[in-house]
Amino acid sequence: ENMKMEPVTEMIEDVVTLLSTQARIKGIDIEYAGEDGAFVYCDRSQVKQVLLNLIKNAVEAMEEPGTIQVKAKKSEEDVCIQIIDEGAGIPEELIQKLGEPFFTTKKSGTGLGLMITKKILERHNGKLSIKRNREKGSTFGIYFPIQ
Ligand code: ADP
Ligand code: MG
Repeated sequence: ENMKMEPVTEMIEDVVTLLSTQARIKGIDIEYAGEDGAFVYCDRSQVKQVLLNLIKNAVEAMEEPGTIQVKAKKSEEDVCIQIIDEGAGIPEELIQKLGEPFFTTKKSGTGLGLMITKKILERHNGKLSIKRNREKGSTFGIYFPIQ
């Protein structure tokens, strides 16, 4: 592990760049609304792995062109990053299953992305929240405590 204070905006931009081709092919815009000057004490490559898993899932969940919003917010207790998609959403009865090893609803999914995400967040004393959006799609939120 390589723990340092890392800039949130840079980590998000790195990952959005990685996924931009896959998103563009599907007509998906990834919008970032940042919080300049937000830093988290973390292992940069592990947090980028988490962001890659979540934003990739968001892209994969969208069957039609649309927008994925990535938002970062800083409060007194934590830094929160939300990934909001316009995909099919998560059936209520499946929400607790997400993050179990090998649980996938995709033809060629591994079902490991969310499990790894949870492990990495545990190591950072962080947490994951999963919600269905009122209109459509899902919101995945990750929280990092401020040191
Ligand atoms: P994989 O992507 O290989 O299926 P993950 O652990 O990343 O494995 O995700 C597990 C399952 O959680 C997915 O197969 C899908 O059913 C569900 N899921 C994850 N992210 C989303 C999302 N943004 N919208 C809808 N369902 C999702
Ligand atoms: Mg995945």
